[in-house]
Amino acid sequence: MPLIVRQFACLSDNYGFLARDEASGLTACVDTPDAGAILGELATLGWSLDMILNTHWHPDHAGGNAELKAATGATVIGPAEVERLSPLDRKVVHGDVVELGETRLQVIDAGGHTLQHIAYFDPADRIAFVGDTLFALGCGRLFEGTPEQMWASLSRLAALPEDTTVYCAHEYTASNARFALSVDDDPALKARAEAVFAARARGEPTVPTTIAAEKAANPFLRAPALAGRLNLHGVADHEAFAAMRAAKDAFKG
Ligand code: ZN
Ligand code: FE
Repeated sequence: MPLIVRQFACLSDNYGFLARDEASGLTACVDTPDAGAILGELATLGWSLDMILNTHWHPDHAGGNAELKAATGATVIGPAEVERLSPLDRKVVHGDVVELGETRLQVIDAGGHTLQHIAYFDPADRIAFVGDTLFALGCGRLFEGTPEQMWASLSRLAALPEDTTVYCAHEYTASNARFALSVDDDPALKARAEAVFAARARGEPTVPTTIAAEKAANPFLRAPALAGRLNLHGVADHEAFAAMRAAKDAFKG
């Protein structure tokens, strides 16, 4: 039986996610941007919370851990770096599997935004929770890691099945699209950007996305192909990515 995902807005531009293993009724929340909003969503759905899955230590991802654990008794699971903010019940690393009833979530190293950032991938349902590593038409800033590390992380995510549903932790897509249009004039991107602007004008989310959609139009995944647009020639893929990230960091649009 499938994993059911419920997505809802938190804070100014975060998303909260509840993931329920239908067979067992066990429920996890992925990151804890806003404990009150998550508790409200659980109450609306009539679900109890069994597990908290953190992607990284930032307060808009783990800041609600303590309050949610106190309110629900959920088991807190994440990379060791989360303990900079609050305690974990279980520390996980790349290659580990988290079992939520019948659902098996693979832990994938997604370091770069923070050093120990991880993603969770459910291969049976082709669902990935990628935190602040891969965004719709974007990627996370490099607060702690190197471009080489982030490129390796993005490449691991890009290697997931094309029809994987990708839950990113922020609604940054319109701003990402404006930057993407400044470095890429591919028709696939233009069509995607129009759809994104229209969705946002209607107040609709642009998350989740898919691996196929990101491989087609995300300027960071396409950095090697777009290197010429940044006046780079004959550089390694991670160097093209580094230049793309630097261009986005400097972009005023
Ligand atoms: Zn973050
Ligand atoms: Fe974040």
